[in-house]
Amino acid sequence: MSENNSVKHKFNDKVRLEDDLYSYVNGKWIESAVIPDDLPCTGGFIDLSDGVEKLMIDEFDNLSKQNKIDDELLSRAVKLYKKVLDDEDRKKGLSALLDKISLLDDIKDNAYFRSHLYYLYDNNYVLPFSFGTSIDSKDATKYCLTISSPSLILPDTTMYGTDGGNALLGIYKSMIKTILDKVGIKDSDDLIAKTISFDERLSKIVKSNEEWADYIKSYNPYDISKACSLLDWNLKDFIYARFGRLPEQIIVADPRFLDNYKELMEGHYEEFSAWSKVLTLYSNIGYISEEFRELSSVYSNALSGAKAITNINKYAYRLTNRFYSEVIGIYYGKKYFGEEAKKDVISIVHNLIESYKHRLSNNTWLSKETIKKAILKLDTMIIKIGYPDKVEDSYKHLVFSEDKSLYEIIEELLKIRSQYSDSLLFKEVDHSQWVMSGNTVNACYNPSFNDITFPAAILQAPFYSLKQSVEENYGGIGCVIGHEISHAFDNNGAQMDEKGNINNWWTKEDYDHFQEKTELMIKEFDGLDLNGNKVNGKLTVSENIADNGGVTSSLESLHRVKPDADLKLFFINYARIWCVKQRPEYEKLLLTVDVHGPAYYRANMQVRNFDEFYEAFNIKEGDKMFLPKEQRVIIW
Ligand SMILES: [Zn+2]
Repeated sequence: MSENNSVKHKFNDKVRLEDDLYSYVNGKWIESAVIPDDLPCTGGFIDLSDGVEKLMIDEFDNLSKQNKIDDELLSRAVKLYKKVLDDEDRKKGLSALLDKISLLDDIKDNAYFRSHLYYLYDNNYVLPFSFGTSIDSKDATKYCLTISSPSLILPDTTMYGTDGGNALLGIYKSMIKTILDKVGIKDSDDLIAKTISFDERLSKIVKSNEEWADYIKSYNPYDISKACSLLDWNLKDFIYARFGRLPEQIIVADPRFLDNYKELMEGHYEEFSAWSKVLTLYSNIGYISEEFRELSSVYSNALSGAKAITNINKYAYRLTNRFYSEVIGIYYGKKYFGEEAKKDVISIVHNLIESYKHRLSNNTWLSKETIKKAILKLDTMIIKIGYPDKVEDSYKHLVFSEDKSLYEIIEELLKIRSQYSDSLLFKEVDHSQWVMSGNTVNACYNPSFNDITFPAAILQAPFYSLKQSVEENYGGIGCVIGHEISHAFDNNGAQMDEKGNINNWWTKEDYDHFQEKTELMIKEFDGLDLNGNKVNGKLTVSENIADNGGVTSSLESLHRVKPDADLKLFFINYARIWCVKQRPEYEKLLLTVDVHGPAYYRANMQVRNFDEFYEAFNIKEGDKMFLPKEQRVIIW
């Protein structure tokens, strides 16, 4: 594993650690760091991710020169990569894209829409609802059908009608006008006005990000007839045509949206058709050429503050990764991830689980009954480290026609993927599948599988290195592992059992107690100031509970493996893993859409909850990092 050189150990002497741990550890780096033009931020996770991308782009450039690649799937990935790099060839896709969206001009009423709905769905048009198969949250061995609301143009419902939101919509409209004019579509003003009007009406009935963060509330089983009665098209016929038979129920993720669906659509089909035309064009136009990719990046750059588009090689790699991630992840893992590191990380994971169990056994606010169920959840947790042994079945189907343009190939791949995903409806769920590929710099807990995944790419410094001290590894990857385990017991995970099903395994008293603690965590973060904007305590509560449990369990594990551990090193590396420099636009956007709190507070607010932090640095009343004992929150 290579060392991450950008976040070197130079402390910022302009602040005292006792007043601001995060700035003391990261301030010097932040002062001099330059955010690359094509990125909204830099540091920590992003640097590692960038490093993996650069490495893999070199690999792809070399593979592109080979006459024959033995691995059939990798060979397809490299072919797709090469397709993206050929700008002249990409341009051939424009007429196919224009043909596709011209069909929408004929949709003027419900009758036409109904008769073409299957075609629209099968061919990846933007529809006024989202629909598909997913794992059933009440029986994670099965798949279910889900219907939900479509995405909005602005990142959150709360931005509509605000000055900031209106400014962004202005940028969006002018970008779309440029694109429509350039591809020669007439009546661009009318199309845009209808698009904005439809989107605005949608924004009044769909869930906000804060509402989505409570994901248990997305599970609302309706019998098919009931769901059907809320739609102005025949859901039953549609399901028959697609799946051959009816399941007993459909899961409604956004019930308010469905309640208002008929009203949204009635008398508004021309508006819908304009909206779908604009959105379908916008989501595909970047495939047509680099010029169009640049024109269509204006809005996303306004959201993130990025100044330029990514270079073409990075774009080609990312697009390839979108379809062949597991193939790339296995290639990366086999070549760059060592067995020694894997063994070491597995022992850290077991150590963390052991600590969790130990803490649960000594828990003073839960009944024996609930503790037993919580420990069962830990005992059955599946651990996935590095990369999977083999690619999942779905990849075998991803064959495309090499003589077609990039846009047509993407259409083909999307169609294959959605048909494959729908074909799973009446099949058993394979719990050995991975939700993150080996080349991803991230980690996750999947509540439906009760599993934790640590891809090879995150197992690098400052998170983890065989060259780092034990304390630093526990302050880094130890806390990340503990964080992921804690998701099994955050406000959402706590409502799911060891089999990955929504199931209340708590006594009422215990759950009430847990909710009181959850409220304390919401209060601790809610309203914290970040450069004039506020943290949303409810939106970020699940991640804050996970961070809290992560530090708790990692500290306890460290005490066990190294009783004389230097906790200074632990907390300093914990602050270092959150090191990031963000553009102001991006920082503000994340406060509205991201369930993770800002890095600054994930470091600075969280450590204040731990007595060990006060002891390690001798923090006293009067220091800005000081929090009175009675206000410190420890959940697990
Ligand atoms: Zn998390």
